[in-house]
Amino acid sequence: MMAAETAWDALAAEKYDAAQLAAYEERFRNSWAHAELRGARNFHQGFEHGMWAGMFNAGLATYTGGRAFGFIDKLPSKPGYEKMRKAGYKPPGSPRAKIDNVLTFDKLTDVYNSGTIHEEDQPCHLKVADTNICRDRCTVEYGNPCAYFCPAKVYEPLFEKNGDGKIDGRLQINFTNCVHCKTCDIADPYQIITWVPPQGGEGPVYIGM
Ligand code: SF4
Repeated sequence: MMAAETAWDALAAEKYDAAQLAAYEERFRNSWAHAELRGARNFHQGFEHGMWAGMFNAGLATYTGGRAFGFIDKLPSKPGYEKMRKAGYKPPGSPRAKIDNVLTFDKLTDVYNSGTIHEEDQPCHLKVADTNICRDRCTVEYGNPCAYFCPAKVYEPLFEKNGDGKIDGRLQINFTNCVHCKTCDIADPYQIITWVPPQGGEGPVYIGM
């Protein structure tokens, strides 16, 4: 809404330069959303040294206005995709929870429960800039992690080796399943996925859950 208000003002003034559009940043900085995000600015970094350090840091932040241990204003951080492990990595720790359809559900049941609806006949709102990278590099280097980190089974890598040892196939994108979490946009190790809003406000209906 803040972006829309800024765009409206720019249209009314017929001015579209950086100075006019800077009003968006000012609106955001003065909003509750900025205050809320600022209070959580060290949350992610706190987990760099494990769960207990992260929990302690997160608890502390509720009393310090978001400051980290040692009253540090802002801990350094890295984008999560830079930490993506290469194919073949086996994480230590407990195995994945079994799906019992009572407390834990498979992805497609979760999509159904989220009430997600998208009209099929619309442009795909998940833009993959170069699917050759998915086939030729990601298959080998990272093992197509989009098939795992997407909670809605949107990405189906249909790749296989042909008789010459080359990888053939395509990346199928089941965009109508998308629950709009934006994980793919931020976790993709090549940063070639861009999530854009689908038409007409379609998507999950979480209030119905
Ligand atoms: Fe999957 Fe979330 Fe990306 Fe949608 S936004 S495709 S649900 S990871």
